Amino acid sequence: MLAIALLPACIGLESVSLFLHLISHIWSKHLLAAYITHIDCQKHEMGNHHPECPERLGAVNDQLLIKGLLDYMEQLDAPLATQEQLARAHSPSYLNEFAEIAQQVPENRHVQIDPDTSINEFSYQAALRAAGAAVLAANLVASGQAPVAFCNIRPPGHHAERSNAGGFCFFNNVAVGIRHAIAHHGIERIALIDFDVHHGNGSEDILFDDPHVLMCSIFEKNLYPFCGDVPMGANMVNVGLPTRSGSEAFRQAVSEVWMPALEKFQPEMIFISAGFDAHREDDMGNLALVEADYEWVTKQIVMIAQRYSHGRIVSCLEGGYDLSSLGRSVAAHVRVLIGAD
Ligand SMILES: [Zn+2]
Repeated sequence: MLAIALLPACIGLESVSLFLHLISHIWSKHLLAAYITHIDCQKHEMGNHHPECPERLGAVNDQLLIKGLLDYMEQLDAPLATQEQLARAHSPSYLNEFAEIAQQVPENRHVQIDPDTSINEFSYQAALRAAGAAVLAANLVASGQAPVAFCNIRPPGHHAERSNAGGFCFFNNVAVGIRHAIAHHGIERIALIDFDVHHGNGSEDILFDDPHVLMCSIFEKNLYPFCGDVPMGANMVNVGLPTRSGSEAFRQAVSEVWMPALEKFQPEMIFISAGFDAHREDDMGNLALVEADYEWVTKQIVMIAQRYSHGRIVSCLEGGYDLSSLGRSVAAHVRVLIGAD
């Protein structure tokens, strides 16, 4: 208001609006949303025609760029997660074993970890970057240096258990980020929201019974990893939906199950396991969601964050394998996340 008062009275409305735009631009520059990624994440690949392919990151980046959303974000390189950070979510024996296997992969070869998951010579570095992205995001958002963060990363993380890799995942990125926010920033209550079509069994395995965490997961029943129907702890809010449930059932589960639990928990910060493989164009699942559902669920999460968490949200890419719908869905999610509506 002071700025407006200082403007000479003779300046027209057009100039005033330009001036206000400039002020808001300077202010928003001060607190840009963080966009965290790394070129190393594209070097990990699991063989020809594997759906969890390096092109996924480009598909996401292209849509964010085309839709002008990167203008609202500060792009940052993901650091490497440290062993201390990883050890908050994974057992020392698993960390040692995985490092040993990963560092012995011959050039241009793959080592199979499970029937669907393998590593190449670059996978270990990529996995460290993906977990490191979640840590950097936690630091920026918890300290108020960025209002929210989106991590465009792979390998994904939510199937990685405390002592097991699997389902294309090696380190549980969100769990590493959450544990860092608790240990390093003293955050007492963190909600993890997982809308990937597959249940986040790894996150549940690591975070069940953690008094600082509430995990809300909606997933398709009878789909990999074939669990989640019986929650492992009281802090797990799992909703399995039947095949082809569609938008209405998904939104009903969010409104009737997730929202009351989140209202009661009053999270100080929110992490999202943002998987987009429930999209109707993605062959990996059959929940038949569309971009508007990702936009809607993000609005619900932002609402909770604004009410209880000072708006603080860290979102990490999980699944989403149809490149076109993945890019469009992430754009719909990020647009709401960063308030670019
Ligand atoms: Zn998935």
